[in-house]
Amino acid sequence: MEAVGDSGAKYECLLFDMDDTLYPLSLGINLACRKNIEEYMLHHLQIEETEVPRMCLELYKEYGTTMAGLKALGYEFDNDEFHAYVHGRLPYELLKPDPLLRNLLLSMPQQKIIFTNADEAHAAQVLSRLGLEDCFQDVICFETLNPPMEPVKCINGTYEEEPQDATETRKNEESSFKTKILCKPSLEAIEAAIRITNVDPKKTIFFDDSVRNIANGKAAGLHTVIVGRSTLVPGADHALNSIHNIREALPEIWEDEGEHLEQIIQSPVVETVVRA
Ligand SMILES: [Mg+2]
Repeated sequence: MEAVGDSGAKYECLLFDMDDTLYPLSLGINLACRKNIEEYMLHHLQIEETEVPRMCLELYKEYGTTMAGLKALGYEFDNDEFHAYVHGRLPYELLKPDPLLRNLLLSMPQQKIIFTNADEAHAAQVLSRLGLEDCFQDVICFETLNPPMEPVKCINGTYEEEPQDATETRKNEESSFKTKILCKPSLEAIEAAIRITNVDPKKTIFFDDSVRNIANGKAAGLHTVIVGRSTLVPGADHALNSIHNIREALPEIWEDEGEHLEQIIQSPVVETVVRA
């Protein structure tokens, strides 16, 4: 039995991964993305061709994303350039509007938030193609957890010179910052998303297609649903073959509907806010 808190609602928030969770892995977006990452490693980072596929997979497994792994190994590249290369050429036309999922999401009384490792532009593109751009109150993406460095010091639009010591310190800080990418499945990233969105993990359901993300989502205190599988994995409370089966598998999402209906009717329509 769930503890009933102040609001009385069993669940207040639904936290959704996006890629391969809101649409199926079989669509081929994931595969196309991996090919683009491998091409970037080959052409922009000059990694040996025979090493690329193995390295791509191993870094993904070790660090959560291949990008995070490349940075940890010391490869230097611009985050935006990387994202533009690997996502900019994806076959987005494979993603079609999903009115069934849209209606399901809009009928859920809870706050709905996207939590993706992908960048803001990719999240906007995917949600728009699926016809879901107005179904979420918030988007936690790469830029949210890895904000660009602040400019050095800017007074009236000009950079102020720093003493040599301060410049050295900053260089060291910047280089250590650049190598550490905060992303799922790290517990730190999941806890950061919980903190930023200010949700109560005990009243939040987390949907993700990644076994590792689900395991650490559970460790962070969230209710968990593995998507894209019909059997449970460690840390998962539920398993959903498709996100379309959500009403059958989790009818409790709609159990608070009566209590919240009035609140929803009174709420103005809000645009999805991207935290970047
Ligand atoms: Mg995913």
